[in-house]
Amino acid sequence: MNVPYLSFDQELADTRADSLKAVEAFLDSKYYILGPKVREFEAQFAAYCGTQHAVGVASGLDALHIAMNILGLSDGDEVIVPSNTYIASWMAASYVGATIVPVEPRMETSNIDPEKIEAAITPHTKAILVVHLYGQSCEMERIMAIAQKYNLFVLEDNAQAQGARYDGKTTGSFGHINGTSFYPSKNLGAVGDAGAITTDNATWADDAKMWRNYGSHKRYYNRVIGLNSRLDELQAALLLPRLAKLDSWNAQRQKAAAWYNERLAGIPDLRCPLVADKATSVYHIYAVHTPQRDALQAFLSERGVGSLIHYPLPPHLQDAYADLGWEKGAFPIAEELAATELSLPIFPGISEAQVDYVAEQIRQFFH
Ligand SMILES: *Cc1c(COP(=O)(O)O)cnc(C)c1O
Repeated sequence: MNVPYLSFDQELADTRADSLKAVEAFLDSKYYILGPKVREFEAQFAAYCGTQHAVGVASGLDALHIAMNILGLSDGDEVIVPSNTYIASWMAASYVGATIVPVEPRMETSNIDPEKIEAAITPHTKAILVVHLYGQSCEMERIMAIAQKYNLFVLEDNAQAQGARYDGKTTGSFGHINGTSFYPSKNLGAVGDAGAITTDNATWADDAKMWRNYGSHKRYYNRVIGLNSRLDELQAALLLPRLAKLDSWNAQRQKAAAWYNERLAGIPDLRCPLVADKATSVYHIYAVHTPQRDALQAFLSERGVGSLIHYPLPPHLQDAYADLGWEKGAFPIAEELAATELSLPIFPGISEAQVDYVAEQIRQFFH
């Protein structure tokens, strides 16, 4: 048997007919930039997240970057970020000149550890950027309480967790302003680059529309040095039928995760993902941890099982951040997670037989 790390087959099958119709309608509409489909998608995505507004942009990184601009973050401002994340979350803060203040994750969830946030706050701290890594909601109750106590902005990086919840509330609706990505492999994926900002603040939603369009609030009048980062009309048209399927796809991921949890339980050297109290995960990634990660990955590959590592090198050890001078050992939990993480196949449509096969190979490896 072969089990790929990722397959789009189910998503395509579920949306093919509607997508083809949407492409035809898009072509015939002759409305190719910021047209009715962008507005329709923004309204539906805001409703899905439970926010007043959603503003489509060209990517998840741009969504976070624009959000940082809207909050007015700049040189000398400190932004608390998880030490364990995809590097885009850091880059968004770096673009506006903010100082990165990494906070370590909980080993069990891989998400930022709320108990460690307060110690990182200084008089210069302006915002906390949280990342719902692998599809699991961060512990938002504690995080929002800390933000309120110190009068800090919260930004959620919801790129991996569309549809996840904390205490019944959807991620991407907790922070003052939030960003998400519709990169094709995300839980809600476009067929190219796309992203969105969500917020309850009407002024900021207008600001986001200005920032994504050259800083223009009125045609040919520009208030700020903005970006060209519009959500593509065609991507919006194709995201609509996909958004309608998102809950069903997330449920399939959750079912697959439950199969893995059951079949991989009790292996001494293997840790399965743990979900925090009141949180849910939509399992963008099913991450296991083992000190024998590299050997396990090679073994699985020989047996036709695809896997990936998210992520092999934490941001503080990347060349891009060499200037900040962090050495190995600076953030030991992020480093240990990076050294032991392996992402198993998970996608809408993965079958119980496929999960059985993957789990069986893992059991054989540890035997
Ligand atoms: C994918 C991702 C991003 C960036 O999204 P793009 O659309 O690729 O720019 C940001 N943060 C996290 C956590 C991501 O997984």
